Amino acid sequence: MRNQRKLIAASLYIQGRGAIALLGENARKLGKRAYVIGGRTAISVTEERIRASLDASGIEVVAIDSEVKDCTYATIERLVEKGRRVEPDFVIGVGGGRAVDTAKAVAWKLAVPAVSVGTQCATNADGSAEFVVYTEDHKFLDAVILPDNPAIVIVDTDVIAAAPVKYLIWGMGDALTAKFEGESHAEAMRKKGGSVPTNTALALANATFESLMRNGLEAVEALKHGTHSDAVDEVIEAVKLSSAIAFENTGCALAHALHNGLTQTGTMKAEHGEIVAYGTIVQAAYEGRPDDQVRAIIDWCDSVGLPTKLSAVCDHDRDALVRAIEYACSKDANAESMPEKPDPIRVMEIMDRIESGF
Ligand SMILES: [Zn+2]
Repeated sequence: MRNQRKLIAASLYIQGRGAIALLGENARKLGKRAYVIGGRTAISVTEERIRASLDASGIEVVAIDSEVKDCTYATIERLVEKGRRVEPDFVIGVGGGRAVDTAKAVAWKLAVPAVSVGTQCATNADGSAEFVVYTEDHKFLDAVILPDNPAIVIVDTDVIAAAPVKYLIWGMGDALTAKFEGESHAEAMRKKGGSVPTNTALALANATFESLMRNGLEAVEALKHGTHSDAVDEVIEAVKLSSAIAFENTGCALAHALHNGLTQTGTMKAEHGEIVAYGTIVQAAYEGRPDDQVRAIIDWCDSVGLPTKLSAVCDHDRDALVRAIEYACSKDANAESMPEKPDPIRVMEIMDRIESGF
């Protein structure tokens, strides 16, 4: 179809303090038999509240599995087998990205809807129609696109705020890039004649960035002091809702390509969101955005505790770094979302300039 405009998202998103209490009454339309899947910590923190909410709405927990560590094909198969025996009406994934991704995969294979209950803020996978599969030794294997988004996303901010603050910082690092990668993706698609993202998705990417700049530091400070301020709620929405819809309806570009290049060519000492935050600084500078804007991103990252230098994310020597940049510019599919094929020599120059204090 020519001039197509398309946007996908979860059908229902509910965020708030004590939001798990609303799980049952909203899930009732999906059926009466729930299969709950998650990691041990996430389930132990939420099980009582989940059971109480489902029970109050006459929904039975037909099985619960709290052994999800990683989203691997073996784990998915084991849980699908269990699911076939108990025949649930829907699957509830409880936890971080690995748990909700596993639950989405299991629900899809059982041909029932998925529900996500996020318990920390490092991921925005809760509402996406995709799951990422890893090998047993936690190497990226596959990203599988699903026909449907989860039916319900529950974000209980009491639970998220009680998780270690590092998760929120990592989530902000990954969400930070939505504006930059989304905008370059849009420009690339316009130029190459591909499917251009909606203005709606781009507006959400920009809203994510502005919310993080405005509320990020205050939210981190609040959580470090054990308080739950409005800024915390703003950042949770920016990561879990705005950035999620923006990401899924635009595309990744140089920031994620660089992440993938670096993780392929050496050992990392930083998490996904931290590496992506650094990659965002590189992409913003590479695109020739005004120095003031790049410096504002660097200062903000410094203030919230995200890395702003390569030396903070990995110990690659020069050869490994050259290979990482080559991979990012030529082999990684995300490079297609740059308006021009990225030039490895310029990327290296930009990274050197950032390293010596932009
Ligand atoms: Zn990411």
